Amino acid sequence: MKTIVTDVLVIGGGLAGLRLGVGAKRRGHDVTLLSLVPPKRSHSAAAQGGMQASLANVIKGQGDTEDIHFEDTVRGSDWGADQDVVRMFVNTSPKAVRELAAWGCPWSRITKGDREVIINSQKVTITERDEAQGLIAQRDFGGTKKWRTCYVSDGTGHAMLFTASDRAIAEKIDIHERKEALALIHDGSRCYGAIVRDLITGELVAYVAKATAIATGGAGRLYRVSTNAVICEGMGHALALETGVAPLGNMEAVQFHPTAIVPAGILVTEGCRGDGGLLRDVDGHRFMPDYEPEKKELASRDVVSRRMEEHILKGKGAKSRFGDHLWLDITLLGRHHIEHNLREVKEICESFLGIDPAEKWIPVRPAQHYTMGGVRTNPTGESRTLKGLFAAGEAACWDMHGFNRLGGNSVAETVVAGMIVGEYIADFCDNIGNSFDIPMGLVKEFGRREEAKLNVLLKGTGTENAFKLNMEMQDTMTRCVGIFRSGEALQEGVAKLQELLVRSRNIGVSNRVPGVNPELVMAYRVQKMIKLALTVSYGALQRTESRGAHFRRDFPHRDDQQWLKRTLSFWRDDNATLPELEYEDLDVMKMELPPGWRGYGAKDYIDHPDTPKRAAEVEEIKQRMAGQDRYAVQNAIMSYTDKLPAKLRGLNERIDEPLDR
Ligand SMILES: Cc1cc2nc3c(=O)[nH]c(=O)nc-3n(C[C@H](O)[C@H](O)[C@H](O)COP(=O)(O)OP(=O)(O)OC[C@H]3O[C@@H](n4cnc5c(N)ncnc54)[C@H](O)[C@@H]3O)c2cc1C
Repeated sequence: MKTIVTDVLVIGGGLAGLRLGVGAKRRGHDVTLLSLVPPKRSHSAAAQGGMQASLANVIKGQGDTEDIHFEDTVRGSDWGADQDVVRMFVNTSPKAVRELAAWGCPWSRITKGDREVIINSQKVTITERDEAQGLIAQRDFGGTKKWRTCYVSDGTGHAMLFTASDRAIAEKIDIHERKEALALIHDGSRCYGAIVRDLITGELVAYVAKATAIATGGAGRLYRVSTNAVICEGMGHALALETGVAPLGNMEAVQFHPTAIVPAGILVTEGCRGDGGLLRDVDGHRFMPDYEPEKKELASRDVVSRRMEEHILKGKGAKSRFGDHLWLDITLLGRHHIEHNLREVKEICESFLGIDPAEKWIPVRPAQHYTMGGVRTNPTGESRTLKGLFAAGEAACWDMHGFNRLGGNSVAETVVAGMIVGEYIADFCDNIGNSFDIPMGLVKEFGRREEAKLNVLLKGTGTENAFKLNMEMQDTMTRCVGIFRSGEALQEGVAKLQELLVRSRNIGVSNRVPGVNPELVMAYRVQKMIKLALTVSYGALQRTESRGAHFRRDFPHRDDQQWLKRTLSFWRDDNATLPELEYEDLDVMKMELPPGWRGYGAKDYIDHPDTPKRAAEVEEIKQRMAGQDRYAVQNAIMSYTDKLPAKLRGLNERIDEPLDR
């Protein structure tokens, strides 16, 4: 078997993989990057709405700071996030936007003077400051307190990904596309790279590396209707899980986006609502203010999705042959706005629905959208249990999203984590103590194992059909592990998935060619996907509370007393039919923002015993330090800067916060 040796193996050519590859390469390490598809076709390209960063350029963002971004993110996460990581993130995000601008990302810009916007269905004139002329613009998105989401029209991910990909080419990163990592090479305590299959020839190659980074994106295709691309099957999640050593964090935390078009499931951006679009029911009634008087259409995604499903269950959905749905009305934004700021939305409506959204309402319903769960890491992006393994982006549980990630925080996470984790990978490679002699015996053994697994599929006598198993898995997840969950349905889902997993060990393929063979690909992927589906459903069954996107009808309260913890799923025994779950406590006494009400959604939760104590402590520090600058106060409450690489610790300049302090 051919063996390729490199310093850093990056598995995934989306925004996260590209950015961390650039970081490590700039520090002098060889980087080899693998991708299923040409990196510019990664799923990051589909992000429409934008990237959150507290630049405070637009008038509606005036006064925005890292502190407000931090608070929005932690509340959004329903206190599931690691607050140190959120701080690292909000401090770095403005730098990431500016770096991308310097690399040529064509961010939409501010024009000074008056402009008309729609806020809460009213036309309002706002005036942009002279000094903001030409600076990066921001839109209302993600239910944030300030307008903070930077965008490139509604093709933000496309523009960011092309910029990052061009940068990776310029930095001479070795990009190997149409290659699929099948298994990590490891000895139970250290990772040495991966066994990789060439999707064209079928050849297996060993990639050996000092550091291996998983940046493979989400796992949306565990569900039948998802906004995710067909390649988002969670194969990076499976790489870690199947080591038996590296756990996945919070797999039950799955986000459903409120506005996927019916029936295709293609997303129309939250920017539609951010820019003033409204949700209407079968009678044309704008129902969100009835449920959420404060945030209305702009409450967090988990809340809006639940309200929509609730409204449909009350019989207020519009009927169609694909089931009931609601309407997204952006006609009130006007043709000019739609053709300039929501061009992709217009194209999607024309191509997939045959309607003009400047004239007609868009049929929408919630669909699976984002995978908060992922490969559990330290704030440095390193696995805690498998040395030499890192993860970043949607594939990781870093964990800044907790149980609900905010719109615009995900593309931001990819590049920010890329910047931070890229530095830590470079540090890891710089450390002479982390070098190793290539364990050729182990490498060969892993190669042989993967070859044997493929041979069982290609030459064996299995009788199960992989496509059928995939459909049954997706149906089970959609039926039993969706927006509203209950113990009964979850138990049914887990049992069905266990049955599917057993059946998946007996798959046979009719197409027996080793090279280009979609049936073979589906066969080995579905075996892994069913395991992931079990981490989601079993994690959801055990978590007897409601938090963020995880809503249990039978346990409708957030329970900080019992459940202020992160689920860790291990798959230690390949013959098992369930993951082993362990839990990681979140320490309230270390939180900058102790748990409380999110500001929208239900106001009922069970407090953690430490919450009042910590809340009083934080309040005392704030009062004692009243009058001191906000950085000093923040540092006294929860110091985090030493967790950032030194080069990223600087303050962020704003129009109202020049850096001549
Ligand atoms: C329709 C849509 C719109 C969105 N809009 C926004 C938005 O406006 N704002 C926002 O913040 N977020 C948005 N998101 C979320 C955001 O786009 C993603 O979370 C983010 O782009 C993921 O980036 P990534 O680099 O982690 O992964 P991806 O971009 O998904 O890249 C994954 C890479 O891994 C590769 N890969 C996968 N498995 C393997 C394997 N086994 N071997 C080798 N390579 C592999 C793939 O080829 C790909 O290159 C949106 C998501 C969707 C679905």
